[in-house]
Amino acid sequence: MVKLAEWRGKDVFRTYGVPLPKGHVARSAEEAEQLVRAGTVPLPCVIKAQVLAGGRGKGGAVQFAGTPAEVRAAAAAILGLEFKGERVKELLLEEKLPIARELYLALTLDRAARMPMLIVSAQGGVEIESVPDEQIVRLPIDPFPGLTGYQKRRAAKVLGLSGGPAKALDRLLDALWAAFDGEDAELVEINPLAVVGDGLVALDAKVIIEDDAAFRHPQYAEIRDDRTPLEEIAREKEIAFVQLDGNIGVIANGAGLTMATLDVLAEYGGRPGVFLDLGGTDDPAKVTEAFLLMARAKPRAVFLNIFGGVTRCDTVAKGLVEAMRQVPASERFPLVARIRGNNEAEGIEILRAAGITSIPQLRESAQAAVAAAGGRP
Ligand code: GDP
Ligand code: MN
Repeated sequence: MVKLAEWRGKDVFRTYGVPLPKGHVARSAEEAEQLVRAGTVPLPCVIKAQVLAGGRGKGGAVQFAGTPAEVRAAAAAILGLEFKGERVKELLLEEKLPIARELYLALTLDRAARMPMLIVSAQGGVEIESVPDEQIVRLPIDPFPGLTGYQKRRAAKVLGLSGGPAKALDRLLDALWAAFDGEDAELVEINPLAVVGDGLVALDAKVIIEDDAAFRHPQYAEIRDDRTPLEEIAREKEIAFVQLDGNIGVIANGAGLTMATLDVLAEYGGRPGVFLDLGGTDDPAKVTEAFLLMARAKPRAVFLNIFGGVTRCDTVAKGLVEAMRQVPASERFPLVARIRGNNEAEGIEILRAAGITSIPQLRESAQAAVAAAGGRP
């Protein structure tokens, strides 16, 4: 999932002709002040934190200013924020438009309907999750013809638009559909879409590019900054690997068992620091590779919880013992194992020969892993 910051989303919108306020990005308070002094951004203006989390309006991360001095002060204040765990490094400055109404508009992929979906609501400007369901209208779209005239008229009616604004909506929906389709997006959202005079303007932009189509859009490759360097390597090797902020490494197979393992560790006061889902591999070399990647995350202890099926216990044990051999002595960590299922006896034997005991009970083994990592943090 490549989630674009608002200004990048608006760059996409601009390319496809979605109407936007006049604006510019700034990375310091001085630069923000200069943009309005030079007239690049007209006053009064809006100063918006470029973070990926929503709810900036309520959280002080969107402010208004009427003079260059106010712009500088607001920019400095917002740049000093840590918004929902994310440091603000970029601002978007935009002209402040006189808004008549705030609407909601989005195109997304609806997995249940297996179709793109146009979502409209006359209640814009608040998070869509807080809008009552009966005030949200969803229109499935056949991807081949795309948005039809009928659907656009229906959307205008739901939004209460006629005359000039309805015409503007017609053009805007064509542009938005072209952006959604052309960029292989899984979501393009405008909230709020503002009625300004006789026209419509996208005041906010949320654009998420579909991961499976990323190879068709290399321009987004550099924005994948939500992955840690190790997660990036894992992605390239097609290993399901996620870093968290604890200190126990978890190796399991299948999403269900992996999640259950994280839960059990948490129940005994342990904090998973990284987890690896071996999925359905039956190649010991693949297990070794995955395990060595985990070792680079420097866990205090590793908990191996495998239920052998397609992934047989002896395959995992072999790959694991080989990987342990390759980890330098100074970087080794205790390993607690629980392997059950297909070829369990062979797997246990391979582990035993390497000095590792498999603990058959889930609770006992999880407690042993927490203890090995140094107990409750
Ligand atoms: P979010 O809260 O993170 O979704 O940030 P938004 O970009 O949606 O901005 C929050 C609110 O700021 C909007 O709902 C608008 O009410 C207001 N806002 C944003 N841009 C403008 C603008 O150009 N003019 C005016 N008057 N209000 C704006
Ligand atoms: Mn918004």
